[in-house]
Amino acid sequence: MLFDTHAHYDDARFDEDREQVIASLADCGVGYVMNIGADMETSRRAVDLADRYDFFYASVGVHPSDVENLTQQDMETLKRMAMENPKVRAIGEIGLDYHYDTPEPEVQKKWLIRQLQLAQELDMPVVIHDRESKGQCIEILRQMKISKGVMHCFSGSAQTAKELVKMGFMISFTGVLTFKNARKAVEACAAVPIDRLMIETDCPYMAPEPHRGERNYSGYVKYVAQKMAEIKGVSYEEMVRITTENALRFYRIEK
Ligand SMILES: [Zn+2]
Repeated sequence: MLFDTHAHYDDARFDEDREQVIASLADCGVGYVMNIGADMETSRRAVDLADRYDFFYASVGVHPSDVENLTQQDMETLKRMAMENPKVRAIGEIGLDYHYDTPEPEVQKKWLIRQLQLAQELDMPVVIHDRESKGQCIEILRQMKISKGVMHCFSGSAQTAKELVKMGFMISFTGVLTFKNARKAVEACAAVPIDRLMIETDCPYMAPEPHRGERNYSGYVKYVAQKMAEIKGVSYEEMVRITTENALRFYRIEK
């Protein structure tokens, strides 16, 4: 069974048909979904979805693009959410994103560090979003000795992937791996030991080929597994088994 390790079913793009889409996943071979929070509200909604659906789990945290108005009170709220609900298995997505001018790098770093401290305090893994931070995100992870983490939607080099693996990290790939111009991602995937790989949709974003540009959903995570199997030289079934086992181990979920 497939494990979609990074999905956003709280997104407005699922408002019309969320229940039907989620109900269809079992027939697509999807056995587990990790719904990732990206701000205070979507973290709450991730927990609600995990409460509602057996095969859903949740991660709570605030994405670097949304940290501008965070307060210490919000950190307490995240902590409570993580402690009170056993289906919350990680803190994230958190990180640095310098693609846009705001929030200021210093503000992003401050809240990344606070949320990493929270994960350490709770002994939970972290889901990291790193976009154009020029190594600053990894530097913070290294300085804080963070070892239980996943680099989501990995877009870096094979060299960076190897560094992260050395730090203890999992490397997760989206549909980007299937794109025709994905040479860099393919090389990075080839460089990661098979027991450190995870697959994700990041739905509704990042739909893989042959559905590029459409609304994504966990039914398409199989294309990522297929491409990964090809890169690693194993059968599709074997790749699905391994990535699901990796994710279960990482998120400490019992089968
Ligand atoms: Zn995401």
